[in-house]
Amino acid sequence: MNNYNKLLNNLETLKLLKMRDNIDSYIDLINNKKKDIIESLYELTNLEIELRNEKAMYGEIEILNEKRIQHSIQFAGFPYQKTFEEFDFSFQPCLNKAQILDFKNLRFIENKENILFVGSPGVGKTHLATAIGLENAKNNHTTYFINCNDLIETLKKAHSHNRLDEKLKTLAKYRLLIIDEVGYLPIDLEAANMLFQLINKRYEKNSTIITTNKPFSKWGELFGDNMIANAILDRLLHHSHVISITGKSYRTKDILADTSNSKE
Ligand code: ADP
Ligand code: MG
Repeated sequence: MNNYNKLLNNLETLKLLKMRDNIDSYIDLINNKKKDIIESLYELTNLEIELRNEKAMYGEIEILNEKRIQHSIQFAGFPYQKTFEEFDFSFQPCLNKAQILDFKNLRFIENKENILFVGSPGVGKTHLATAIGLENAKNNHTTYFINCNDLIETLKKAHSHNRLDEKLKTLAKYRLLIIDEVGYLPIDLEAANMLFQLINKRYEKNSTIITTNKPFSKWGELFGDNMIANAILDRLLHHSHVISITGKSYRTKDILADTSNSKE
């Protein structure tokens, strides 16, 4: 091996890759007396320093990004962190897997569309809503997850402190608002009015995900008022994806499997 190749090897061993890549042109410059050796070495080492500074900067940006994502996820207040990968589609064959996986692309967020998951307890409504929410938070969009009854309590509290408008404005701004468990408890007229105001403020501006165990035909009963229920549904359903999950509960699948086994 000649000295030139030995030099290249040394630069490689020392991880001076910028110097290795540029040394050839500098040797030409020196041979042609366009640059002297000191200037050449100075510039070559400068190239190496620039690269290291850039790498350090990117490293810091990566760390900041990671921190921001963690903060967004914490802020969102998910009940648990479940992903699309953890969802067993074979257990819920009524679902169109491609349609659900497309939510991961967040096109519905861009299009300001809503998603409504309808189904009995344990079928994976909250799991899927959370998986979508996590994806949204990871993509740097504001995301907020709230249980419907907690939301009603928050709104009523804001109202009693004369801060309902302020609260509604904040809630309307989130790029994605997930209202979980609509319909598990009856909703009084005051709460229904507040929910209508919130949905109306978000209408065609930001996406909302709803999970509910109540078919829409029962929402009049749930809200104790057909007109307000229809007004809310009207805005939610215009530009929306309705996902009905008709399968069995994932929570009780093992218990049910056990009972059926024990009968045999
Ligand atoms: P609900 O429809 O009542 O909101 P969840 O989404 O909370 O039900 O599901 C109940 C539990 O079962 C959660 O721990 C969830 O992760 C799990 N689960 C539900 N469906 C599935 C599924 N198809 N694959 C994997 N886990 C599931
Ligand atoms: Mg749930």
